[in-house]
Amino acid sequence: MDSIFFPGGKFLGIEWHVWKLVGWLGNVVFFSRFIVQWHATEKRKQVVVPQAFWWLSLSGSLLLLSYAFYRKDSVFIFANLFSWIPYIRNLIIHRRHKEAHTLCPVCEVNCPPQANFCASCGAALKAKTAGQTA
Ligand SMILES: [Zn+2]
Repeated sequence: MDSIFFPGGKFLGIEWHVWKLVGWLGNVVFFSRFIVQWHATEKRKQVVVPQAFWWLSLSGSLLLLSYAFYRKDSVFIFANLFSWIPYIRNLIIHRRHKEAHTLCPVCEVNCPPQANFCASCGAALKAKTAGQTA
């Protein structure tokens, strides 16, 4: 067993130090977005990109970018240098979309603000408040 996990006396054969930990943490965080997105899609049986996907993309790519700077690897730096732009943009759009829409209490799908029933599951959405007209 030692030869599998500790080849050459090093865990997974890797020379560990703080920056190696930052790089691997970036890999784990960035990869986890795939699992989060897949789970959300399977749950609703339609392609869904949850907000958590963009947070994981942003934090994972920033960790990888900091490791790339440590390594002074121009290819690796360029691959992660601009990816934060669409991630932040998508987080902003997610936030605006969430604010403008009504969340279905049953299936948690965002429905248009004027909808009385969920387009996905048909559940009645929250009653209109006094100030609103149908
Ligand atoms: Zn619903």
